[in-house]
Amino acid sequence: MPKDKEFNAAMLKDSGYRPRTAQESLSETVLDSIERARAKGYSRDEAMALLFRSTIVGPDVMESLISAILAGSHILLFGPSGTGKTSLAKELWRIFPKEVMAVEGCPVQDDPFSVFDKEHHARSPCCPSCESRFGPGGEFDPSMVDPSSVPVVRTRLREGYGLARVQGSAEVFPDNLTGVFNLHRLEEIGDPTSPLVLEPGKLLQANRGLLLVDEVGKLPLGTQNVLLQALQEGIVTPAKSRETFPAGFVAVTTSNLRDLDAINEPLNDRLTNIYVDYIREHSRNRRILEVARRPDPRGVMMPEILMHASIFTVEAWRDLSVDLPELSEVGSNRTILDMVSRSIAYALLRGSRQVAVEDFEKGVKDAMYGRIRARGGDSFQRNEEIVREYLSGNMELSVERGFRLYWCTFFQRDLGASAQRAEKLARAISEGSIPGGADGDLLAKFISVNERNAGGLTDEEVRSAVVGIMGQMKDFGCRPAQGP
Ligand SMILES: [Zn+2]
Repeated sequence: MPKDKEFNAAMLKDSGYRPRTAQESLSETVLDSIERARAKGYSRDEAMALLFRSTIVGPDVMESLISAILAGSHILLFGPSGTGKTSLAKELWRIFPKEVMAVEGCPVQDDPFSVFDKEHHARSPCCPSCESRFGPGGEFDPSMVDPSSVPVVRTRLREGYGLARVQGSAEVFPDNLTGVFNLHRLEEIGDPTSPLVLEPGKLLQANRGLLLVDEVGKLPLGTQNVLLQALQEGIVTPAKSRETFPAGFVAVTTSNLRDLDAINEPLNDRLTNIYVDYIREHSRNRRILEVARRPDPRGVMMPEILMHASIFTVEAWRDLSVDLPELSEVGSNRTILDMVSRSIAYALLRGSRQVAVEDFEKGVKDAMYGRIRARGGDSFQRNEEIVREYLSGNMELSVERGFRLYWCTFFQRDLGASAQRAEKLARAISEGSIPGGADGDLLAKFISVNERNAGGLTDEEVRSAVVGIMGQMKDFGCRPAQGP
């Protein structure tokens, strides 16, 4: 292919290039990636999970989302706070194919075919800047444009240029979405990309790519209507203008449950609704910690037991379904992550590189209290009381469940030993006797496996951590059971 400088739309056409809408680009990439994973022997669920590798959601959510993309729909991800909706929306941008061919100098990165190809122009019209630049005047007719007069660049979609993000709030006005366009200024200045001619709003910035709208129900009605018009007609009319711009993007929006009613019904009808609920399976929630957390840079170790305990604490809270808006964030995935980082902070304050149960107890409280929304002192105290009471009944139980899971996993998965043997050994230790013989060997193996898993700690630190784990088991009167 010749250098971009000399490259024009006639050459692009001869190269066999086929123009695609944003929907088509995204859906082709998704399908292609799934088919490639299937060809390597991955199952359908694995192939879908590989596609969205930084977000853990249930397989049903993944499946609905992917089928919506393949269908070319706009999307609304809704559900409780902290279930990964925003993170899923961002992953769609990561997946989105960003290399595109565009009209050189076009402020909204039009596809060159939009300018001269009648068929593509009907689906994705070019912008008024391109019309006045390439059209001979009067009514614009793409079949009158000579493709060799349209300069083409290969470019990369990026924020403001194929990606626009909107955070829903009462302060987002229609102009923020449409932008401002002044055709008279274009005739004077001649440069369609001059900010005096065009201030592209979010909808124009998103052309050919993605529009991400977080908390769409928080947008004022007038702003929602502008978005609706863009989705219905595929065009945007900037303020102070009668000209229309192309709005060829995939809209991915999110909403929490409370703001659902605030989404204008015709707008909601244009969006494929996908419910993103909390994940019920403990092992998937454990994966969230793996995916979202980096190992602590200071080398502080959070025992696996307490990782599980953090998750159990939040899972049991979710099961209570406390229906108070001020408490809606307490059960979020972010709370689990906070619990871990707060527990680590308390270990550091104690001068230790090993999180102990006392650090965990403080960290869990901080993380949960920190997610209570304050609406005046009284209501905060009342809500704090609810969380405190919950923790006083649940925290020990969560640690115990964490230990059981860890202990049993260790024996069954890592050692291939029976639960009965695990129980016998646990009882001996909890009664203060140090086992000998084969059981003693098993304990030694338990310690050595822990050593391998605890990077950055000395042998002695690992040994004392394992003794601590044994101690915890005694403290909580834990008896190993068949799984959690
Ligand atoms: Zn253009």
